[in-house]
Amino acid sequence: MILLAKRSIIKEDKSNIITLGQIAKEEKKKDPSVVNATIGMLYDEKGKLFAFESVDKALNSLTIDEKYAYASTPGSNQFHEAVKSWVFREYYDLMKDNARVMATPGGTGALSNTFANYLNEDDKALLPNYMWGNYKQCLYENHQGFDTYKLFNDKGTFNIEDLKNKMLESKKNQGRVLFVINDPCHNPTGYTMTDNEWDMVIDLMNEISKDNTPVILLHDMAYIDYAKGGFSKTRANIAKYQRLNENCLVIMAFSGSKTLALYGVRIGAQLAYSKNKEALDEFSRANKFSSRSKWSNPSNLGMNICVKALTNPEFKKSFEDELYKASNTLIERANIFLSEAKSCGLETLPFECGFFITIPCSNPDLAYERLVKEKIHTIPMGNVLRVTISAISKEECKMLPKKIKLAIE
Ligand code: PLP
Repeated sequence: MILLAKRSIIKEDKSNIITLGQIAKEEKKKDPSVVNATIGMLYDEKGKLFAFESVDKALNSLTIDEKYAYASTPGSNQFHEAVKSWVFREYYDLMKDNARVMATPGGTGALSNTFANYLNEDDKALLPNYMWGNYKQCLYENHQGFDTYKLFNDKGTFNIEDLKNKMLESKKNQGRVLFVINDPCHNPTGYTMTDNEWDMVIDLMNEISKDNTPVILLHDMAYIDYAKGGFSKTRANIAKYQRLNENCLVIMAFSGSKTLALYGVRIGAQLAYSKNKEALDEFSRANKFSSRSKWSNPSNLGMNICVKALTNPEFKKSFEDELYKASNTLIERANIFLSEAKSCGLETLPFECGFFITIPCSNPDLAYERLVKEKIHTIPMGNVLRVTISAISKEECKMLPKKIKLAIE
């Protein structure tokens, strides 16, 4: 007898990242020579989970109330302003009045709330064809579906034409468009859009929405603070949202897990931006309802760590310095991996920066099994193998490409 409700019978966590990550972790505990290139967290060169000292100090400076008391459902005003000022930086004064924040458990909460409130039942979100798989589960949970746009064109750059075609289809079929862009440091490829590609996206949104069609961009910015171009480049692209018309809404999914390495604390935010004030009021109202029904209120501990680390001068400057060093470590690891890949003829998908490098592969499950025999743990997904460079050392980055090349042949 099956006791599950009809829609729950097929529920199975298909994102093998957590499961395979757990296996790799267990294996590494037994044998430290195991290479664990699975889960998206930052590790130091000695294989220890990386924590920002400034963030840890911020945590240790909190009072009992700041750590353990219940928070309000949308989160505190201080947290809202901290997120706005961190994400908008030099554009804060220009953009703050057209923005609203809702605190969520990680970026995942932000994604889930956004799907819930901007698609009707059975509507489809547009997702990039290479993606973080959990988008699909969030959508299923909300009784919604998805279609994909091709992330890359033949030249290996952002496929604006395919995105446009898919947006027009969504508009025709459901009278609204919700699409996801995961940028910079896209998971799993590490692709990062150029300024010009962002301009094309803004133009496209304005064009598709000019007849009053609602166009919602869900900007998954989990890895925003690890971009090669640094704060000035990523924030200049965010400032482009000021060019959007009143029928457009952007919801940025901010992740405290990635920016502050607060993975287990579960803090993040939806940061909405629109010229349409009514849309912003609706955003606060509907998302507060969703948050209350799903997790009741966010982590006060997480919010207050963010407030301290992102705004208090005592911690902010050293946090930014540490973040800069962490991004540079990632860049060094990527350079080593890519140069070895080139010399042994291992192909990778277009990469710029970030936690992951992805290898096209016709049988990733087989390659995964072969690599496990060599004590190397990666993530097989669709038709690629994902290598998490944030979790392995420079030495391991040097050794891996040849082994992967052998395993996929
Ligand atoms: N988006 C992407 C692309 C991710 O890789 C992740 C986590 O790995 C998330 C969102 C959500 O992370 P969190 O909920 O921990 O903020």
